[in-house]
Amino acid sequence: MRLVEFADRRFRLAGREVLGRVRHFMGSFDALSDGADGRLVSFGAYDYLGLSADERVRQASADAALHVGVGVSASRMIGGERNFHADLEANLAAFVGTEASLCLVSGYLTNLSLVQHLLGSRDLLVIDELSHNSIVSGASASRARTITFRHNDLDHLEEILATQRSAHARCLIVVEGLYSMDGDIPDLPRLIAMKHAHDCWLMVDEAHSIGVLGETGRGISEHWGTDPREIDLIVGTLSKAFVSCGGFVAGEARVLEWLHFTLPGFVFSVGMAPPIAAAADTALRILREEPWRIARLRSLSAHFVAEAERLGLDCGPSRGHGVVPLFFRDNEETVICAEALLSQGFYCPPIVQVGVPRDQPRLRFFLSASHTEANVSAALEVVAAACNSERNLDRLAS
Ligand code: PMP
Repeated sequence: MRLVEFADRRFRLAGREVLGRVRHFMGSFDALSDGADGRLVSFGAYDYLGLSADERVRQASADAALHVGVGVSASRMIGGERNFHADLEANLAAFVGTEASLCLVSGYLTNLSLVQHLLGSRDLLVIDELSHNSIVSGASASRARTITFRHNDLDHLEEILATQRSAHARCLIVVEGLYSMDGDIPDLPRLIAMKHAHDCWLMVDEAHSIGVLGETGRGISEHWGTDPREIDLIVGTLSKAFVSCGGFVAGEARVLEWLHFTLPGFVFSVGMAPPIAAAADTALRILREEPWRIARLRSLSAHFVAEAERLGLDCGPSRGHGVVPLFFRDNEETVICAEALLSQGFYCPPIVQVGVPRDQPRLRFFLSASHTEANVSAALEVVAAACNSERNLDRLAS
């Protein structure tokens, strides 16, 4: 069979028709925001703190490109190391409350490489079933035995540890600080107690929780009031609250020193580019100096959930932490609501079967300190109206 026939067949099975509509939708953001009024309100960006268009961030990035260069043209192990790398890493570590950190060129690579690197064939890796694909890919590449626990179900995790832990040398538990598809968070104090009770290491991917959770945006430890050093490895990305690109891992200095010389995704990949690092470092400084952004995101999130509930929309398990999904009956209804939003100037791409289970299509709203309460209320009214007319049509047809 020719590859193109194979691809055709697979794409048909994956739901070519609805995916085609989704793809068309994805391409519409640029076209519309460059349009006549240019006032499309996006709920599709991870710009939690409203910094993506910030002049200070853009200027820092432009200055770095002009004065330091666009790229460093080598791995940091062999000529690509620059002073700004160490500065950014020290600032990140101080912010999350660990001794040290290390930056890689993407968040995806950071997870993939770390999860693969840490364990061997006598070890156990236990991950949440809704783990990001970068963690799942790291697990597939690892030689450790991998077991998945039901999403955010720590009783299930406890059961797995009680029955499987003792048969393995080391054990790593991986969770996320804020699950971006469902918008919920794990019970960190309980995870810490379990890690001690079963002699495991704990890794938390804070891609969506840094800058979002906690009074000053320091993430899930601040949210729960626990010591960040209780988490063995804190992973984050610079592509979300920090509106740049890249990933980091933070923890004890001696662990990070070892990773510096051995982590394949760090050793065998180019050092982070100056404009990217400068943008992230500047966003981090603004985050520290302007905590009102985090408070604003929090109140906007609470408003979203209250409004959605008032309109009878389904937010699933989310209690409103920066990202809130709305669940629909099927793909068709989800796409109809996304199209209705777009027609009213709101961009919120539908998430269907490839990104989430087939029976749980949704619109995922990334909230931002740059949104207003009026934006949120208006968008939810559009969704409620589109849903109601779709359901009324269905009723008439049956
Ligand atoms: N972890 C999580 C939980 C994510 O959601 C993402 C990307 N959305 C990543 C890691 C990868 O980060 P990046 O896009 O910065 O490579």
